[in-house]
Amino acid sequence: ILSHSLSTIKEKFMPIYLDNAATTKVDSRVLEAMLPYLQNEFGNPSSIHSLGRKAKAAIEKTRKIVAASLNVSPSEICFTSCGTEANNTALLGAVKNLGVKHIVSSPTEHHCILHFLSFLEKNHGTQIHYLTVDKNGHINLEELSLLLQKLEDKTLVSLMHGNNEIGTMIDLEKVSQLCQENEILLHSDMVQTYAHFPIDLQKTPVHFMACSGHKFHGPKGIGFLYTDGDVQISPLIYGGAQERNMRAGTENISGIIGLGKAVELAMEEMEEHTAHIRGLRDYCKAQLLANFEGLEFNGDIEGAALYTVLNVSFPSDPRLEMMLFNLDIEGICASGGSACSSGVDTGSHVLQAINADPMRPSVRFSFSKFNTKEEVDILIAALTKIIKPAVAV
Ligand code: PLP
Repeated sequence: ILSHSLSTIKEKFMPIYLDNAATTKVDSRVLEAMLPYLQNEFGNPSSIHSLGRKAKAAIEKTRKIVAASLNVSPSEICFTSCGTEANNTALLGAVKNLGVKHIVSSPTEHHCILHFLSFLEKNHGTQIHYLTVDKNGHINLEELSLLLQKLEDKTLVSLMHGNNEIGTMIDLEKVSQLCQENEILLHSDMVQTYAHFPIDLQKTPVHFMACSGHKFHGPKGIGFLYTDGDVQISPLIYGGAQERNMRAGTENISGIIGLGKAVELAMEEMEEHTAHIRGLRDYCKAQLLANFEGLEFNGDIEGAALYTVLNVSFPSDPRLEMMLFNLDIEGICASGGSACSSGVDTGSHVLQAINADPMRPSVRFSFSKFNTKEEVDILIAALTKIIKPAVAV
């Protein structure tokens, strides 16, 4: 009884977590699947004894689960430490091994793409072409098409499927089609969309895609790179022969198992969770509009966008600059943009790219299957406390 009451009290004082685009809570079924591999099944997958073989078999089983979720071959899946590593591996491989001289991308990509593009430009002489984006963060497909027809040397298009800050999604089918027509390589950072949207790589081919376990209730420290079997790139990390010589280092076996379980759950429960999360986001938007004036939503909120993300700009008021801090005091975790930039003094490069008013404080609320309508009501009450006195004076 005591431990039950303690856990109820703990739950009660847990902050309301509305920062699921930054990371998600590990599903208890995922944790349960992982635990044996941290305890009794702790073998090194490279060992030839029984414990090692068991670990190796568990990894290969997970590789099949991931491959099936994308309708590709298991040999095309390489486990990495995170989405960042998967993105870096694809970009470097394209330049080093596939002779890519031009990369076409967008200014709203995650920093693990943008900063790596700067590295390639500086150290490998790669020419980087940034597409323009409109006020919702959409690229211009016409501009992309004209550019792809014009570029003569080997080219890679690298575009994220869904934007982590404002939620805007590209039309992956059209981009894939354009790349096929022009014989261009395509990489997509699908960290925010994989396991949230159905993705069939037979229907929508890409050459590379990067994913990360902690964005869909799997653990941190595990991701994967899909590489089309027709292209071959070299590793980012050298050493042992793990991951079919594609990624050296003893495998994060519990992480791989956790990712696999999270994929299974996401595939089974996707429809239900999509409806629940979309409902919460729409309810939050409606409540914000009903209670506050002068709001603006960033991203293509009514169109092609992640259903998990609601990015809102509040009126320009110096007292609202501390919005995230004040929300935190009220027990609400949200973000002012990409989590990877938090603590850095510069504004969001995504909001800059869409010409959002720099004077207006923006907050990204991002939802998961674990959020409830009651939590949104608490958020609105907290915002009322923060905003109304600030704006009324
Ligand atoms: N790409 C996008 C779109 C992301 O949102 C993130 C994480 O915030 C990453 C890449 C990096 O993933 P990871 O944290 O697994 O390195």
